[in-house]
Amino acid sequence: MEWCFSMPKLELHAHLNGSIRNSTLLELATALDEKDFSEVEHVILKYDDRSLKEVFKLFDLIHILTTDHDTVTRITKEVVEDFASENVVYLELRTTPKRNDSIGMSKRSYIEAVLKGLRSVNSVDVDFAPHSEDSKTFLNPLPSTTEDKCNRDSRKKIFVRLLLSIDRRETTEAAMETVKLALEMRQYGVVGIDLSGNPSIGEWITYLPALKFAREQGLHVTLHCGEVRNPKEIHNMLDFHPERIGHAIFFEEEHWRKLKSSNIPVEICLTSNIRTLSVPSVDAHHFVDWYNAKHPLVLCTDDSGVFSTSLSNEYKIVAMSFGLGRKEMFELSRNAVEFIFADNGVKEDLRTYFNSVAKNMEL
Ligand code: 5GP
Repeated sequence: MEWCFSMPKLELHAHLNGSIRNSTLLELATALDEKDFSEVEHVILKYDDRSLKEVFKLFDLIHILTTDHDTVTRITKEVVEDFASENVVYLELRTTPKRNDSIGMSKRSYIEAVLKGLRSVNSVDVDFAPHSEDSKTFLNPLPSTTEDKCNRDSRKKIFVRLLLSIDRRETTEAAMETVKLALEMRQYGVVGIDLSGNPSIGEWITYLPALKFAREQGLHVTLHCGEVRNPKEIHNMLDFHPERIGHAIFFEEEHWRKLKSSNIPVEICLTSNIRTLSVPSVDAHHFVDWYNAKHPLVLCTDDSGVFSTSLSNEYKIVAMSFGLGRKEMFELSRNAVEFIFADNGVKEDLRTYFNSVAKNMEL
């Protein structure tokens, strides 16, 4: 199944701090004093089967270790390099802008540190900002597969766009601040807003004004939806008609019907759902029913560091568990081009690229 690795892929649901390398996390943890380190080390090294509650505890810990400008820059660089190395050609990276007055960090300076990370990637060409007319030649187009074969020096390229996350712990004002920041940062590749954070906390009504404002201003919106049993919130979210939703686990029949009729694409995070014990096993995962019903789906990692996975691994799990072949998996990947939040120019580039790969792979 080497083709799960070599095939071009799109990652549309990756949280920056959740995608941190384990080695980086452990290295950062060694800066703690001995007692704190031994506590942290235990949590970090417990890879398997952390409940959703434990995962959010781990995120608080990760944030203590990672929330300074230089570390945010470093993690961004590493995460982009890791995705590019497994042939992800388009990455929509999401992160919660954080404020920490004690180190002079504002939500804006946090995102600037992320942008610095994108600029500092040197192992691959990164296209992260929308093109103005005169900067169209800034980067090479995605190398065609024939070129790849003929020219060993041809560099890999990855498109990266950013989503700013609203954390469910935040107030309406804080959520609004994030949306305004996203609007200011559009020229640097911010394309949308995500709602995430502990799903057992907070009320839909708190975030709604900011999400409505985001949409009015032309930002794209994706929501974490149905991670816990909350039928009313799922209804409210579907009524809002986001452009994509993530997870969609605790859906009842009428939610499913609504989702189906609205055709909203779902970001599927298989390993994450199983590791957090939200779904008992791969066989019991809703992916297969929705795939058979031809609902728009995209495979994603969620938190590749926290759940020790990769996008290629998610493809492999799906291919092996549900008996999908190279062609079906390629089409699953290619279909995701239609769900991205970047502009039509990027979509067109990706369509052309996938067509050329399909020809080369004789699909
Ligand atoms: P960050 O936004 O700090 O870059 O990435 C980590 C954050 O993403 C977590 O603190 C949490 O708010 C959010 N997150 C990561 N994984 C999940 C998930 O599976 N579900 C939800 N609801 N939020 C998540």
